[in-house]
Amino acid sequence: MPKASETVLEIDLKALEHNYRYLRSRLNPETKFLAVVKAFAYGSDAVAIAKKLEHLEVDYFAVAYVKEGVALRDAGIQTPILVLHPQAANFEELIERCLEPSLYAPKILREFLDVAKKMEQKNYPVHVKFNTGLNRLGFWENDIDHIQEKIKGRTEIKIMSIFSHLAASDDLEEKEFTHNQIDAFEKIALVFDKKIDHTPFKHLLNTSGIINYPQAQFDMVRSGIGLYGFGNEAEIDAELKPVATLKTIISQIHNIEPDETVGYNRAFVSDGYRVTATLPLGHADGIGRQYGNGKAYVIVNGQKAPIIGNVCMDMIMIDITNITCIEGDEVIVFGENPNAEQFASAANTISYELLTGISQRVKRSILGM
Ligand SMILES: *Cc1c(COP(=O)(O)O)cnc(C)c1O
Repeated sequence: MPKASETVLEIDLKALEHNYRYLRSRLNPETKFLAVVKAFAYGSDAVAIAKKLEHLEVDYFAVAYVKEGVALRDAGIQTPILVLHPQAANFEELIERCLEPSLYAPKILREFLDVAKKMEQKNYPVHVKFNTGLNRLGFWENDIDHIQEKIKGRTEIKIMSIFSHLAASDDLEEKEFTHNQIDAFEKIALVFDKKIDHTPFKHLLNTSGIINYPQAQFDMVRSGIGLYGFGNEAEIDAELKPVATLKTIISQIHNIEPDETVGYNRAFVSDGYRVTATLPLGHADGIGRQYGNGKAYVIVNGQKAPIIGNVCMDMIMIDITNITCIEGDEVIVFGENPNAEQFASAANTISYELLTGISQRVKRSILGM
């Protein structure tokens, strides 16, 4: 790994490939794999990630919004892209760029049919989402008749798949609830297949679903966090490799006297002679204030250095008393150790939030192409 000379998020495509192969190895060989690359591929680099996975012959991509899908098409990605949460305002662009909408409610179904008709589409691929207990997006089971009625005789769209999303696939204390969701989806699938004249494929599982409920893999799974190296349990994290490593360097070192303070609002008060280092990243880069005041630590030359005082917009200060280091030395914020999950837990959050919050100001560096 190259040494950092500024703040950089390294994206390791070899780690991505390892995670993809590992997750696939837990599935039936014929099960299709959808890679979730929303939010800049969980804060990494959606184009680099999608290109690598397309090369590995992933079956589908998913993004949250149309704009994210357009960016992938602009980069030359040709694999089908499911848009999980499209808005009617972007339907024309969605169709022009061959993106496939999730239709999750009567209103959005109606709006999509109108645009598809206006644009003279035939068999445009769409996906129908059902709510089985997350109560976020999705038709209800008793909407099936409504859907059937609305699409009867309409040639503009073709329902490629039906799907649902688990609420607590990572929480084994919620096993019963998850089994109920799986049963509900199975029932919806049966009823749905009877009522339309072709058989859409079915999908339900996210990463933790793949790990904990492989019996419910249906025709395809949708994995995000697992591809980026996290499985929501330590045992699985040990099998996966973190794709993103956030590194920075020491800009300046200070020797602090007893009772001196460090940073805004003088939040750190020194209890003795201390050595501090200032780093060029802050809350505008995605390391929020919740990590300050001793909550999280970074790694300097293999040793733990706590973040002291309040996190600033563009800087954090760390305590390097007893660590041998000089200005310009590399600092690891998260990567293999601590990994993003461990770093995030210092501030009571999860790897998903930490990773997707690393702002676009941070340079991305792609390794292992
Ligand atoms: C984000 C998302 C996923 C991916 O979940 P992971 O826990 O990251 O694997 C799958 N399905 C839907 C509908 C999502 O919104």
